[in-house]
Amino acid sequence: MKLKTFKTLTILTLSIAVTSCNIDQNEQIGDQDIKRVSENDEMTLGYKFKNRSPSSDCNFEYEGFQGPEFWGDLCNGDWVDCNGNSQSPIDIVTGVVHENDNLNNINMNYTTSATEIFNNGHTIQFDYEAGSSASLNNIDYNLLQFHFHTGSEHTIDGKRYPMEMHLVHQDPVTKLLAVIGVFFKEGKENEVLAQFMNNLPQQKGDYYKNTEEYHIVDILPNEMEFYTYNGSLTTPACSEIVTWYVLKKPVQASHNQLKRFKEIMHENYRPTQPLNGRIVSKADD
Ligand SMILES: [Zn+2]
Repeated sequence: MKLKTFKTLTILTLSIAVTSCNIDQNEQIGDQDIKRVSENDEMTLGYKFKNRSPSSDCNFEYEGFQGPEFWGDLCNGDWVDCNGNSQSPIDIVTGVVHENDNLNNINMNYTTSATEIFNNGHTIQFDYEAGSSASLNNIDYNLLQFHFHTGSEHTIDGKRYPMEMHLVHQDPVTKLLAVIGVFFKEGKENEVLAQFMNNLPQQKGDYYKNTEEYHIVDILPNEMEFYTYNGSLTTPACSEIVTWYVLKKPVQASHNQLKRFKEIMHENYRPTQPLNGRIVSKADD
């Protein structure tokens, strides 16, 4: 116990040292920045949907006693949705995907954004400036943020990719979410990620902000065919408020880029969840 406290203190001290160091190197960040970025993280979006405020003293991990198999029992029952019947991610079995000729293409109205990157202790989150949206099956959603998981959370016929990016969108009226999942495979260097590799926030609470603009479309594949199904957030509180759009075509990142993300985030994927009769659909081929 004493050792654990000492370890925690050491980590805290180190994080504070590293954080102050990072802030010195970059633009000063204010409480407003932290507030905005926190408002867009998945846990807060799930809580806000239920008109509740997030519990600051609840923690989860990807292994051990706070690992995924226990999420539903943690946080005094606040995360009970993690034991629900429509959870994400899932394994997508391509042989049983339904063809649905009523599905529309993803219609993107994305624009550029300045750079804001936050390490929330579970993922590296890029906050996207207001004004970008996508029409997903005739509903307009605002793009709020995107973040990463190593390895991928969804699997295709059991295959796990080295990384998956989640573009989190919100319907401004219903507050329901739509998340576009993009797989990364190892290959050539990703030019957009290359801009940020030296500034990825390494420790929980680290933040990087720069006026440099980039365009999310430059990270996306040229074909946007997708699998879609109804599911949940893949982190507590696992709220079942997400329509998923998992892109068929992966994008590429270099071995070193994938390695760097994994070094910072470690393995932060939730195991696949049972379908429980849900249908996964795709547009006609
Ligand atoms: Zn995610």
